[in-house]
Amino acid sequence: MVRGRKTDKEKFAGAEATYTVECMMKDRKALQGATSHYFGDKFSRAYDVTFTGRDNKLQYPFQTSWGSTTRMIGAVIMAHGDNNGLVLPPQVAPIQVVVVPVAQHKPGVLEKANELYAALKAANIRVTLDDSDNSLGWKCAQYEMKGVPLRVELGPKDIENGVCVAVRRDNGEKTTVGLGELTEQVPALLDAVQQGLFDKAKKNLDEHIYAAHSIEEAKELQEKNGGFIKTMWCGDVECELKMKEQAGMSSRCIPFHQEKLDEVCACCGRPAKHMIFWGIAY
Ligand SMILES: [Zn+2]
Repeated sequence: MVRGRKTDKEKFAGAEATYTVECMMKDRKALQGATSHYFGDKFSRAYDVTFTGRDNKLQYPFQTSWGSTTRMIGAVIMAHGDNNGLVLPPQVAPIQVVVVPVAQHKPGVLEKANELYAALKAANIRVTLDDSDNSLGWKCAQYEMKGVPLRVELGPKDIENGVCVAVRRDNGEKTTVGLGELTEQVPALLDAVQQGLFDKAKKNLDEHIYAAHSIEEAKELQEKNGGFIKTMWCGDVECELKMKEQAGMSSRCIPFHQEKLDEVCACCGRPAKHMIFWGIAY
Protein backbone atom coordinates (compact mmCIF):
# COMPACT_ATOMS: atom_id res chain seq x y z
CA MET A 1 0.00 0.00 0.00
CA VAL A 2 0.97 3.62 -0.51
CA ARG A 3 0.20 6.23 2.14
CA GLY A 4 -0.73 9.72 1.11
CA ARG A 5 -3.19 12.54 0.87
CA LYS A 6 -6.20 12.74 -1.45
CA THR A 7 -6.53 15.61 -3.92
CA ASP A 8 -9.27 18.17 -3.31
CA LYS A 9 -11.33 16.48 -6.01
CA GLU A 10 -11.10 13.04 -4.38
CA LYS A 11 -11.26 14.04 -0.73
CA PHE A 12 -14.35 13.58 1.45
CA ALA A 13 -16.78 16.43 0.82
CA GLY A 14 -16.60 18.85 3.70
CA ALA A 15 -13.24 17.63 4.98
CA GLU A 16 -10.22 19.91 5.18
CA ALA A 17 -8.04 16.96 4.24
CA THR A 18 -8.43 13.25 3.54
CA TYR A 19 -5.63 10.75 4.01
CA THR A 20 -5.60 7.29 2.49
CA VAL A 21 -3.76 4.04 2.18
CA GLU A 22 -4.01 3.06 -1.48
CA CYS A 23 -3.71 -0.68 -1.86
CA MET A 24 -2.67 -2.51 -5.01
CA MET A 25 -4.66 -5.65 -5.66
CA LYS A 26 -3.28 -8.76 -7.37
CA ASP A 27 -4.77 -7.63 -10.69
CA ARG A 28 -2.87 -4.31 -10.24
CA LYS A 29 -6.00 -2.25 -9.81
CA ALA A 30 -6.18 0.18 -6.92
CA LEU A 31 -8.40 -0.14 -3.88
CA GLN A 32 -8.73 2.75 -1.50
CA GLY A 33 -8.11 1.14 1.86
CA ALA A 34 -8.72 2.87 5.16
CA THR A 35 -9.10 6.65 5.09
CA SER A 36 -9.01 9.36 7.70
CA HIS A 37 -10.33 12.90 7.51
CA TYR A 38 -9.52 16.15 9.19
CA PHE A 39 -12.65 18.29 9.53
CA GLY A 40 -11.35 21.33 11.35
CA ASP A 41 -14.30 22.80 13.27
CA LYS A 42 -16.66 22.73 10.24
CA PHE A 43 -18.81 19.83 11.40
CA SER A 44 -18.90 20.82 15.05
CA ARG A 45 -20.16 24.26 13.99
CA ALA A 46 -22.74 22.74 11.61
CA TYR A 47 -24.06 20.35 14.29
CA ASP A 48 -23.50 22.74 17.15
CA VAL A 49 -21.21 20.39 19.08
CA THR A 50 -19.48 22.27 21.86
CA PHE A 51 -17.42 21.75 25.00
CA THR A 52 -16.48 24.00 27.88
CA GLY A 53 -12.90 25.15 27.49
CA ARG A 54 -10.33 26.05 30.17
CA ASP A 55 -11.49 29.62 29.82
CA ASN A 56 -14.96 28.43 30.91
CA LYS A 57 -16.42 29.42 27.54
CA LEU A 58 -18.14 27.16 24.99
CA GLN A 59 -15.76 26.04 22.24
CA TYR A 60 -16.15 24.13 18.96
CA PRO A 61 -13.92 21.04 18.87
CA PHE A 62 -11.66 20.28 15.92
CA GLN A 63 -12.55 16.81 14.71
CA THR A 64 -11.08 13.85 12.86
CA SER A 65 -12.72 10.72 11.49
CA TRP A 66 -11.15 7.31 10.99
CA GLY A 67 -12.59 4.78 8.56
CA SER A 68 -11.32 1.24 8.61
CA THR A 69 -14.24 -0.81 7.38
CA THR A 70 -15.32 -4.20 6.02
CA ARG A 71 -13.75 -3.06 2.75
CA MET A 72 -10.42 -4.09 4.27
CA ILE A 73 -11.71 -7.68 4.19
CA GLY A 74 -12.21 -7.29 0.45
CA ALA A 75 -8.68 -5.95 0.18
CA VAL A 76 -7.27 -9.01 1.99
CA ILE A 77 -9.19 -11.31 -0.36
CA MET A 78 -8.11 -9.50 -3.53
CA ALA A 79 -4.51 -8.88 -2.48
CA HIS A 80 -3.69 -12.44 -1.36
CA GLY A 81 -6.31 -14.85 -2.76
CA ASP A 82 -5.56 -17.26 -5.60
CA ASN A 83 -7.45 -19.60 -7.93
CA ASN A 84 -7.98 -22.11 -5.10
CA GLY A 85 -9.75 -19.56 -2.92
CA LEU A 86 -8.90 -17.43 0.07
CA VAL A 87 -5.38 -17.01 1.37
CA LEU A 88 -5.52 -15.40 4.80
CA PRO A 89 -2.54 -13.88 6.61
CA PRO A 90 -2.07 -15.80 9.89
CA GLN A 91 -2.35 -12.63 11.98
CA VAL A 92 -5.97 -12.09 10.90
CA ALA A 93 -7.05 -15.67 10.11
CA PRO A 94 -9.88 -16.85 12.39
CA ILE A 95 -8.45 -20.38 12.04
CA GLN A 96 -4.65 -20.45 11.78
CA VAL A 97 -4.12 -24.21 11.75
CA VAL A 98 -6.30 -27.17 10.84
CA VAL A 99 -5.30 -30.62 12.04
CA VAL A 100 -6.33 -33.25 9.49
CA PRO A 101 -6.04 -36.90 10.50
CA VAL A 102 -5.07 -39.27 7.67
CA ALA A 103 -6.70 -42.73 7.74
CA GLN A 104 -8.43 -41.76 10.94
CA HIS A 105 -10.17 -45.15 11.27
CA LYS A 106 -6.80 -46.75 12.05
CA PRO A 107 -6.14 -47.27 15.76
CA GLY A 108 -4.47 -44.40 17.58
CA VAL A 109 -4.74 -41.78 14.82
CA LEU A 110 -7.64 -39.78 16.21
CA GLU A 111 -6.20 -39.91 19.72
CA LYS A 112 -2.88 -38.52 18.52
CA ALA A 113 -4.62 -35.89 16.37
CA ASN A 114 -6.61 -34.79 19.42
CA GLU A 115 -3.38 -34.55 21.39
CA LEU A 116 -1.83 -32.28 18.76
CA TYR A 117 -4.97 -30.18 18.67
CA ALA A 118 -4.91 -29.74 22.47
CA ALA A 119 -1.20 -28.90 22.49
CA LEU A 120 -1.60 -26.23 19.80
CA LYS A 121 -4.64 -24.79 21.51
CA ALA A 122 -2.72 -24.61 24.77
CA ALA A 123 0.00 -22.70 22.90
CA ASN A 124 -2.60 -20.02 22.02
CA ILE A 125 -2.85 -20.97 18.38
CA ARG A 126 -6.27 -20.67 16.73
CA VAL A 127 -6.62 -24.30 15.75
CA THR A 128 -9.35 -26.66 14.65
CA LEU A 129 -9.49 -30.43 14.16
CA ASP A 130 -11.47 -31.97 11.34
CA ASP A 131 -12.42 -35.50 12.43
CA SER A 132 -15.50 -35.57 10.19
CA ASP A 133 -16.20 -38.49 7.85
CA ASN A 134 -15.32 -36.45 4.77
CA SER A 135 -12.47 -37.78 2.63
CA LEU A 136 -8.92 -36.47 3.01
CA GLY A 137 -9.07 -34.81 -0.42
CA TRP A 138 -12.34 -33.08 0.44
CA LYS A 139 -10.92 -31.79 3.73
CA CYS A 140 -7.75 -30.47 2.12
CA ALA A 141 -9.69 -28.64 -0.60
CA GLN A 142 -12.14 -27.27 1.95
CA TYR A 143 -9.53 -25.61 4.17
CA GLU A 144 -7.52 -24.49 1.19
CA MET A 145 -10.61 -22.67 -0.12
CA LYS A 146 -11.17 -21.13 3.31
CA GLY A 147 -7.60 -19.84 3.31
CA VAL A 148 -6.40 -21.51 6.52
CA PRO A 149 -2.66 -20.66 6.57
CA LEU A 150 -1.38 -24.05 7.77
CA ARG A 151 -2.64 -27.63 7.49
CA VAL A 152 -1.15 -30.28 9.76
CA GLU A 153 -1.56 -33.83 8.47
CA LEU A 154 -1.06 -36.84 10.67
CA GLY A 155 -1.37 -40.51 9.63
CA PRO A 156 -0.38 -43.94 11.01
CA LYS A 157 3.04 -43.84 9.30
CA ASP A 158 3.77 -40.37 10.65
CA ILE A 159 2.87 -41.49 14.16
CA GLU A 160 5.23 -44.45 13.80
CA ASN A 161 8.01 -42.02 12.84
CA GLY A 162 7.07 -39.50 15.52
CA VAL A 163 6.32 -36.75 12.99
CA CYS A 164 3.53 -34.89 11.23
CA VAL A 165 3.47 -32.89 8.00
CA ALA A 166 2.74 -29.16 7.90
CA VAL A 167 1.53 -27.73 4.58
CA ARG A 168 1.63 -23.97 3.89
CA ARG A 169 -1.41 -22.47 2.16
CA ASP A 170 0.56 -19.65 0.52
CA ASN A 171 3.03 -21.78 -1.45
CA GLY A 172 2.10 -25.44 -0.82
CA GLU A 173 5.47 -26.13 0.83
CA LYS A 174 5.49 -29.26 3.02
CA THR A 175 7.57 -29.50 6.18
CA THR A 176 8.04 -32.62 8.27
CA VAL A 177 7.88 -31.66 11.92
CA GLY A 178 8.79 -33.81 14.92
CA LEU A 179 5.76 -34.23 17.17
CA GLY A 180 7.76 -32.93 20.14
CA GLU A 181 8.64 -29.70 18.31
CA LEU A 182 5.22 -28.90 16.95
CA THR A 183 4.34 -26.10 19.37
CA GLU A 184 7.64 -24.36 18.54
CA GLN A 185 7.60 -25.05 14.80
CA VAL A 186 4.00 -24.02 14.10
CA PRO A 187 4.38 -20.40 15.29
CA ALA A 188 7.59 -20.14 13.24
CA LEU A 189 5.79 -21.50 10.17
CA LEU A 190 2.89 -19.09 10.70
CA ASP A 191 5.40 -16.22 10.86
CA ALA A 192 6.93 -17.48 7.62
CA VAL A 193 3.52 -17.52 5.90
CA GLN A 194 2.80 -14.01 7.18
CA GLN A 195 6.14 -12.73 5.89
CA GLY A 196 5.76 -14.63 2.62
CA LEU A 197 2.39 -13.01 1.90
CA PHE A 198 3.71 -9.57 2.78
CA ASP A 199 6.78 -9.99 0.57
CA LYS A 200 4.69 -11.19 -2.37
CA ALA A 201 2.24 -8.27 -2.11
CA LYS A 202 5.08 -5.76 -1.63
CA LYS A 203 6.89 -7.13 -4.67
CA ASN A 204 3.71 -6.83 -6.74
CA LEU A 205 3.39 -3.20 -5.61
CA ASP A 206 7.05 -2.25 -6.09
CA GLU A 207 7.27 -3.85 -9.53
CA HIS A 208 4.17 -2.10 -10.84
CA ILE A 209 4.79 1.56 -10.09
CA TYR A 210 5.82 3.35 -13.28
CA ALA A 211 7.01 6.91 -13.84
CA ALA A 212 5.52 8.87 -16.74
CA HIS A 213 6.17 12.34 -18.09
CA SER A 214 3.07 12.93 -20.21
CA ILE A 215 -0.57 11.80 -20.32
CA GLU A 216 0.15 9.71 -23.42
CA GLU A 217 3.00 7.91 -21.71
CA ALA A 218 0.88 7.40 -18.58
CA LYS A 219 -1.93 5.93 -20.66
CA GLU A 220 0.43 3.62 -22.52
CA LEU A 221 2.04 2.36 -19.31
CA GLN A 222 -1.35 1.75 -17.69
CA GLU A 223 -2.69 -0.14 -20.69
CA LYS A 224 0.45 -2.25 -20.92
CA ASN A 225 1.10 -3.02 -17.24
CA GLY A 226 -1.71 -1.81 -14.99
CA GLY A 227 -0.54 -0.68 -11.57
CA PHE A 228 0.18 2.82 -10.31
CA ILE A 229 1.54 5.49 -12.64
CA LYS A 230 3.44 8.30 -10.95
CA THR A 231 3.81 11.75 -12.51
CA MET A 232 4.44 15.31 -11.44
CA TRP A 233 1.32 17.46 -11.10
CA CYS A 234 0.57 21.17 -10.93
CA GLY A 235 -2.25 20.75 -8.39
CA ASP A 236 -4.99 21.84 -10.80
CA VAL A 237 -8.25 19.87 -10.97
CA GLU A 238 -8.36 20.47 -14.75
CA CYS A 239 -5.34 18.23 -15.15
CA GLU A 240 -6.95 15.52 -13.02
CA LEU A 241 -10.02 15.63 -15.26
CA LYS A 242 -7.83 15.48 -18.35
CA MET A 243 -6.00 12.38 -17.06
CA LYS A 244 -9.36 10.72 -16.33
CA GLU A 245 -10.74 11.58 -19.74
CA GLN A 246 -7.69 10.73 -21.83
CA ALA A 247 -6.06 7.91 -19.86
CA GLY A 248 -9.02 6.56 -17.83
CA MET A 249 -7.20 6.99 -14.52
CA SER A 250 -8.20 8.78 -11.33
CA SER A 251 -5.72 10.26 -8.91
CA ARG A 252 -5.09 7.79 -6.09
CA CYS A 253 -3.04 9.92 -3.71
CA ILE A 254 -0.26 12.42 -3.25
CA PRO A 255 2.21 10.11 -1.47
CA PHE A 256 3.81 11.32 1.77
CA HIS A 257 7.08 10.05 0.33
CA GLN A 258 7.67 12.49 -2.53
CA GLU A 259 10.11 12.24 -5.43
CA LYS A 260 10.99 14.87 -8.01
CA LEU A 261 10.48 13.22 -11.38
CA ASP A 262 10.33 16.45 -13.37
CA GLU A 263 10.08 20.22 -13.07
CA VAL A 264 6.69 20.41 -14.75
CA CYS A 265 3.20 18.87 -14.62
CA ALA A 266 2.83 15.84 -16.92
CA CYS A 267 -0.61 17.05 -18.01
CA CYS A 268 -0.16 20.76 -18.76
CA GLY A 269 3.56 21.57 -18.66
CA ARG A 270 3.20 24.26 -16.00
CA PRO A 271 5.41 24.17 -12.88
CA ALA A 272 4.75 21.04 -10.78
CA LYS A 273 3.78 21.10 -7.11
CA HIS A 274 3.62 17.40 -6.19
CA MET A 275 4.32 13.91 -7.35
CA ILE A 276 0.98 12.12 -7.68
CA PHE A 277 -0.11 8.49 -8.18
CA TRP A 278 -2.72 7.53 -10.78
CA GLY A 279 -4.54 4.25 -11.24
CA ILE A 280 -7.71 2.40 -12.12
CA ALA A 281 -9.71 1.89 -8.97
CA TYR A 282 -12.39 -0.51 -7.81
ZN1 LIG B 1 -1.17 20.52 -14.73
